Amino acid sequence: MVSRVIPVDPFDLVIFGGTGDLAQRKILPALFRRFCAGQWPESARIIAAARSELSTDAFRKLVAESLRSYAPRRSGEVENLQGFLQRLDYVQLDALSTGGWDELAGKLTPDRVRAFYFSVGPSLFAPLAERIRAHALATKDTRIVVEKPFGHDLESARDLNATLAAHFYEGQIYRIDHYLGKETVQNLMAVRFGNMLFEPLWNSQYVDHIQITVAETVGVKGREDYYERAGAMRDMVQNHLMQLLCLIAMEPPAKFDPDAVRDEKLKVIRALDPVEPHHIVRGQFAAEADGSGYREVVGNPRSTTESYVALKAHISNWRWAGTPFYLRTGKQLVARSSVINVQFKDAPHSIFGEAAGRHANALSIRLQPNEGITLKVTIKEPGQGGMRLIDVPLDMSFAEALGPENQDPPDAYERLIMDVIRGNQTLFMRGDEVEAAWAWTDPIIAGWQARGDVPKPYDSGSTGPGDAELLMKRDGRHW
Ligand code: NAD
Repeated sequence: MVSRVIPVDPFDLVIFGGTGDLAQRKILPALFRRFCAGQWPESARIIAAARSELSTDAFRKLVAESLRSYAPRRSGEVENLQGFLQRLDYVQLDALSTGGWDELAGKLTPDRVRAFYFSVGPSLFAPLAERIRAHALATKDTRIVVEKPFGHDLESARDLNATLAAHFYEGQIYRIDHYLGKETVQNLMAVRFGNMLFEPLWNSQYVDHIQITVAETVGVKGREDYYERAGAMRDMVQNHLMQLLCLIAMEPPAKFDPDAVRDEKLKVIRALDPVEPHHIVRGQFAAEADGSGYREVVGNPRSTTESYVALKAHISNWRWAGTPFYLRTGKQLVARSSVINVQFKDAPHSIFGEAAGRHANALSIRLQPNEGITLKVTIKEPGQGGMRLIDVPLDMSFAEALGPENQDPPDAYERLIMDVIRGNQTLFMRGDEVEAAWAWTDPIIAGWQARGDVPKPYDSGSTGPGDAELLMKRDGRHW
């Protein structure tokens, strides 16, 4: 089964911050792979704009180097490298002054899709939006792509939304959450709304609880300043885990269309109850492999920033009243794993008696590694006398099920950038969603600050603080 590549229209993509880490590690490799897949037309162009003084040739060399480091080799890529590099241009430009803007204007092609990717620090989002307008670079086919963090709290997110709205209409603003670009996240919608099997059971009558785990093995090196101000709640829960929660909990949208989907996600966020302080565990990793803990890494011996959060959330609506959602995420943990577990209730009555034990179905959606879906079902234990039951996984690893041609599907950035060019906002966050997520997050963080809360230490390479286990245990459940 070979997946079809649907070509996009000609475009000019301007990457502000084109020399930066995100551009070199994610955006340009993603564009390269789509180029190799034949998804862009010949005439499409990428113009990097950044502060460094660089010739176009030097920029192309930088990108060639990055592709060697960050784009895993696939067939056809060596032959395509020169063709790709020829489509790259570079402008030295300052987001905070007029320098370079006329040169950029001269490089843009009229009458085609124009996308401006803001791959710069958030303090430059507003100046960039203002200057794009002031230099009359925005056409009706213009889109802007804004990276996280989208604000630091509700107030700053509102300010940013207002600034962007002064220059662009909502249909032009693409707020990226790369989790939404993951193959399995979209598969979550396909599984829920493309099958008759699950949706009738997808409610508090049949679902005992839902767990969302995003565990990382990496620490915070290289991002110390940002992380120290953000912490796990702002860096992961307010955006990535919240988006996963929305997709798992939302009502079926009438159509797979940007506003229909985002309306339903917004309703979920607005139905979230405030979280009780005793339903949250904060942690901070105590020691890295080289002996330094979080505080040493960020250079703040009194830091109370959390590198781990586990919490229990409730959605107050007809579908979910009474079903808890357990969310957890952390850095420097034992394994890198992102998974959503939907734990169904036990059968109401066991005809097999107590000896058969207790069994309940569970659906696991693995985002990484080894994307796939597993359904745990109960069957008879083979060969035993009497009726003894065991649980077995019905496992669908996408790489295996879909054949070798699909072993390596487009990554999140590949998909999302092509969606920007196509003008499809379904997998991007709307301004009101982001604000609603901050409105839920802010009181949690304010509560920690008011109480002088100090995160619990946990060992690097562990599963997180012991209290996170207790959070579940108290409810008679486990992660
Ligand atoms: P970076 O510091 O590596 O790169 C910043 C880029 O901005 C550089 O190209 C620099 O030349 C340019 N720049 C800085 N000041 C400028 C100015 N006044 N005018 C024009 N260009 C200027 O940063 P990064 O890690 O690439 O992050 C970029 C954005 O993406 C940030 O908002 C970050 O939070 C976000 N982000 C990054 C990652 C990541 O993995 N790096 C992941 C998610 C989100």
